[in-house]
Amino acid sequence: MNYISTKNKSTQYSIKDAIISGLPNDNGLYIPAKIPSFPSEIIDQFKGNSLSEIAYTVLLPYFSEEIESDVLKGICDDTFNFEIPLTPVTENIYSLELYHGPTLAFKDIGARFLARCLSYFAKNENKKVKVIVATSGDTGSAVAHGFYNLENIEVVILYPKGRISDLQEKQMTCLGGNITALRVDGNFDDCQRLVKTAFLDTDLRKKIKVTSANSINIARFIPQSVYYYYALSQLPSKLPVTISVPSGNFGNLTAGLYAKQTGLSIDKFIASTNINKVFTDYLETGEYTPVKSKKSISNAMDVGDPSNLARIQSLFPTIDDLRKEVISYSFTDEETRDTIKAVFNKSGYILDPHGAVGYLGLKKHLDSTPTRVGVFLETAHPIKFRETVEPVIGKTIDIPNQLIPLLDRKSHYTDISSEYTEFKSILLGC
Ligand SMILES: *Cc1c(COP(=O)(O)O)cnc(C)c1O
Repeated sequence: MNYISTKNKSTQYSIKDAIISGLPNDNGLYIPAKIPSFPSEIIDQFKGNSLSEIAYTVLLPYFSEEIESDVLKGICDDTFNFEIPLTPVTENIYSLELYHGPTLAFKDIGARFLARCLSYFAKNENKKVKVIVATSGDTGSAVAHGFYNLENIEVVILYPKGRISDLQEKQMTCLGGNITALRVDGNFDDCQRLVKTAFLDTDLRKKIKVTSANSINIARFIPQSVYYYYALSQLPSKLPVTISVPSGNFGNLTAGLYAKQTGLSIDKFIASTNINKVFTDYLETGEYTPVKSKKSISNAMDVGDPSNLARIQSLFPTIDDLRKEVISYSFTDEETRDTIKAVFNKSGYILDPHGAVGYLGLKKHLDSTPTRVGVFLETAHPIKFRETVEPVIGKTIDIPNQLIPLLDRKSHYTDISSEYTEFKSILLGC
């Protein structure tokens, strides 16, 4: 399969070029020239398959041209080696728990898959690849852990000072080695802008080989479609299913939309957002107006200009096409807290603030269509946001095993301004 840019459909790229370069140089995003489709017999068979078997079947058409099938099989086994339970929270609402990986957020999946692809390609290149990534919280730690100690790879993470949780900061700054953490005096959009500027800097790109690990990298977001197939294969009923995705940069939602395009039967998607509701407003008005991001308790979704929008727009050329597939609701921090509390009191289930936004969107939709079944993506373990969650539920959350060894390690980071020149000199030096 070949890939094209959202800005130019006539130039074709291989998956290897798309993964290594991260972004095409026309400021668009890579997308498959054609999305594969799976006959219903294949999708029906997923019921008896493991996560990693489903991953291999789903991902083969996207990657087979440049990655041999046994290598791809190994990458799938390695990436999808933790469980993704589908847990009932009410009679018709299920939580797809994507947080059982090493850094306790769904981003582990895309980050691990991408890291293994890049490391496979880097073996044949004699130049170090520098992976740059802007994070609003969870990407940084997932990428740091996914790439830690991989040969020929240097990782540079930018995160906004004072806007991520202590645990998130610890997870990405405690590794050292081939991982450099930069604490930016600015917000997430500033971090993202620095990354984009580096990609468009032809002088820099002549000197070093850079790639991106943000969800703009095609090898991060495509593997995220795997768990949509898995979730549906686990559901006991055949009723039409609505899936609610707590969204920030919209990589997760885009992956779900791709899964549906290949033939997976999903009724509707809910794009659930916090007060950063640029997408919700876009669906409502048809006008897209990026804004400055605002701080919320679901901080990984504090995005004012979602980077995957171009991919969504390439799937749905008109706003009315998009409205048929996706409904969007936005929620305040107060509503999010109230929901964490109400769900805990009713069922004992502990939501994290992002999952709570997803739950709220789903509930709002299902309340108007009561016979349906819904799944929301629970994108992070509540312990990652314990400062918010514990006071709300009035209880401490048990520390999962993955975290224990990190707690005593020292943090290492460098403070930088949001000026590009400063970032560039660090990139050239590391
Ligand atoms: C990144 C993140 C999101 C948002 O995902 P996108 O793919 O950027 O929309 C939601 N929840 C958590 C916990 C995250 O880390």
